[in-house]
Amino acid sequence: MPELNKTLVMKFGGTSVGTADAMGKAAQIVKGARKDWPRVVVVTSAISGATNLLLDSAAQAAQGNLQTLMDAEKSLLANHEKIIEAQVTSPERRAELKEKVKSLVSDFGSLCRAIAVLGEASPRALDAAASLGERMSVYVLAGVIESVGVSAQAIESTELVVTNAHFQNAHPDFDATRERTLSKLVPIFEKDIVPVTTGFIGATPDGIITTLGRGGSDYSAAILGAVLPANEVWIWTDVDGIMTTDPRIVKEARTLSEITYNEVAELAYYGAKVLHPKTIRPVVEAGIGLRICNTFNPSHPGTRLIANTPSNGKPHNGGQVVKAVTAIRKQRLVTIEGRGMLGVPGVAARAFSAVASTGTSVPLITQASSEQSICFAVPSETAAPILSALQNVFASEIEDEDIDRVWMTEDVSIITVVGVGMRHTPGVAGQVFSQLGRNNTNVLAIAQGSSEVSISMVVDADDTEAAVKALHELIVN
Ligand code: ADP
Ligand code: ASP
Ligand code: MG
Repeated sequence: MPELNKTLVMKFGGTSVGTADAMGKAAQIVKGARKDWPRVVVVTSAISGATNLLLDSAAQAAQGNLQTLMDAEKSLLANHEKIIEAQVTSPERRAELKEKVKSLVSDFGSLCRAIAVLGEASPRALDAAASLGERMSVYVLAGVIESVGVSAQAIESTELVVTNAHFQNAHPDFDATRERTLSKLVPIFEKDIVPVTTGFIGATPDGIITTLGRGGSDYSAAILGAVLPANEVWIWTDVDGIMTTDPRIVKEARTLSEITYNEVAELAYYGAKVLHPKTIRPVVEAGIGLRICNTFNPSHPGTRLIANTPSNGKPHNGGQVVKAVTAIRKQRLVTIEGRGMLGVPGVAARAFSAVASTGTSVPLITQASSEQSICFAVPSETAAPILSALQNVFASEIEDEDIDRVWMTEDVSIITVVGVGMRHTPGVAGQVFSQLGRNNTNVLAIAQGSSEVSISMVVDADDTEAAVKALHELIVN
């Protein structure tokens, strides 16, 4: 790509735009990047807490309760106005932006009242509600960036990102998105203006708003990065990068200066909220550099994602094999067991198609080699419908006692250790299990990632923090 078109996509998360101070910092970061990058695209999340507030109020409205809505409207208005007051210098722009936010808040009120009349919030209506967080923050951030002296233009990504109609978890159409993004953004670049776009949201080909799933603004940055294409995508968040574990669980967690794509994919998939799991594939496929950095500590180099090469398969980091630990909470283990299952073809296939019929994906599966049981994890909120789907599908086997029972545990957590060096180091699993044993943590199920970059264990919900802390000691020591 010619130097002149060198492109950087920068995404700011909810905390990075959540207060006047944070948004001011984000704007300075954009200004700084403009010195080195002729083309900068900014992707923003909603201000922290806004998406939850919008979705909670919509859910309450569906129950006929509009009291939450009034509080939400007030707080959305007040939080955006505070930022506008503190960071937008031009009085005319301030007035315009306040009007814009007010009109979006008022749209939200109308939407919730319609939901209350219907007594139900469809996925489509929930996407319309959830999208309003980014649709507010994007105008405010563009105004704040302008106030630090950089020409900026807010663009709702419904004009850029084309998706299918799978509301709340929409899938982008990359070809259609490329066409729209280039036709919209190139003229803006040519005027030397920074486009500031909404993360998280897209639209169907006929313009109905969709969202890419919670935490999906990271994915938006990757999608735009891939279609432009950008040279780099930088994810600005509230920690120094990808860390050895969630610093909210272990305060000694350290930032990793580098991590391979395979490792970060496992970490993100198994619960490390710092990066949405879908972010990785588009940037790897397009050969784009990915970096995670801290809005509140911008001089820190953050974490760089690096390619999966044979040499980084050898233990590095001073012989460190386990590089990071992560946890997903609120899961249930479902078990199908019975001696009559032995050698019966198709039990697993039928079980997983029953699960798939409920629209759930399964993060972890184990089968005992005796073939007498199949056990897998599912998110707790989906467990009850899955259990009844399985009981239906296997009704005759249960009656004939080929299957003894289909049952599920209480809430459990999946703990995953990640490290590309595990592939070349015998005995890592032993080390991991002895460490949990020393801490009296009972392991309910185990699975090893097929890439051998991760080992996952299921533990009781009450053991989550202790297990993460114990396994983290394997890294620190
Ligand atoms: P943003 O709003 O910027 O997208 P998120 O809250 O989605 O930020 O993700 C950042 C948070 O992810 C951090 O504040 C941290 O608590 C959490 N987190 C969980 N696991 C990790 C990890 N391994 N490394 C860094 N942060 C992690
Ligand atoms: N605002 C959205 C959410 O809270 C998307 C994001 O922040 O990435 O899920
Ligand atoms: Mg996030």
